[in-house]
Amino acid sequence: MPASRTTAQLPGRATRPLVSVVVPCFDEAAVIGETHRRLSAVLRGLPECEYEVVYVDDGSGDATWDRLTALAADDARVRLVRLTRNFGHQPAVLAGLREAAGDAVVTIDADLQDPPGLIADMVERWRAGWPVVSARRTGREGESRFKTGTAHVFYRLLAAVADHPVNLDTGDFRLLDREVVRTLSLLPETELYLRGSVCWAGFPETSLEYGRLPRLAGRTKYTLRKMAGLSRRGLLACSSAPARVPAVVGLAWLGGTATASAVLRRPLPLAAWTFGAEAVLLGLLGEYLLLVHREVRGRPPYVVRQRWAAGVPTPVELVPVEAAEHSKAWAAGSTL
Ligand code: UDP
Ligand code: MG
Repeated sequence: MPASRTTAQLPGRATRPLVSVVVPCFDEAAVIGETHRRLSAVLRGLPECEYEVVYVDDGSGDATWDRLTALAADDARVRLVRLTRNFGHQPAVLAGLREAAGDAVVTIDADLQDPPGLIADMVERWRAGWPVVSARRTGREGESRFKTGTAHVFYRLLAAVADHPVNLDTGDFRLLDREVVRTLSLLPETELYLRGSVCWAGFPETSLEYGRLPRLAGRTKYTLRKMAGLSRRGLLACSSAPARVPAVVGLAWLGGTATASAVLRRPLPLAAWTFGAEAVLLGLLGEYLLLVHREVRGRPPYVVRQRWAAGVPTPVELVPVEAAEHSKAWAAGSTL
């Protein structure tokens, strides 16, 4: 386990650490007041911590924004971000991460499916030294069989084909240390699958288990289309396997064709060979696409966890900072 962290060791803060909670909201007027009440009760009880709650209105069409501004008028710990339109859950969470000022940042859904009480345990683990504390769903009381079943299969499929370790049954209810938030905020990619990015970043991680509760009110905002989009982005972001399917099929086909013609002692029709050859050529294109995808996505080749010199830790200048500065200068036409 990583070394435990005292308040004095927290970056830039000799006083009490600040815990931010980021809540993406899309048409959540029916629940948001109660969510704020329950979140605040938990956050007030955190020992020796300051807190803020950052609500991100993801283009709601109902009274969500009015409710949020009323909350912010009454509570100086509330900060709001309003997106111009509905960009989707993942962009809304990223907007909140970029806005949050906390030494630790918790992301949680607005509908109380994720129990706010777990935040206290997350903060405790963080203070014990864990930069990432995720929450694994052991049950999904409030969800349809279809959703539970497809999620179960998806996470296992993704884990089987991912290029780096990924978590099973883990959504976006988690705590991230400032260092991790900084790394994620600097990634220039726009096709977001944040739970995958957290695993890719590779900081030490521990997880808590919880049963997912039913929604307090309203209906799911994750339509089938949005769910399919998230799964597709997850698969393409975490795995090279889809692009390699044609090469594998083509090589297997060619191998089968060669074996069959050897066994039958006569050449097979040209069509049998051309199918395999075409698939292999598609696979070759797939390799170039993967290469282009990686370069365009602009992730740094590695992330530094810590630097150490003369027996003491030295501040980490994250590689993405350098990369981001470079691309900003590039965009501004500098001759860097
Ligand atoms: N959400 C969002 N933008 C969207 C869809 C959802 O900000 O386009 C928010 C939503 O308000 C909630 C969280 O993301 O706080 C999860 O959405 P939801 O509860 O509808 O998804 P489910 O739990 O059913 O998967
Ligand atoms: Mg929900």
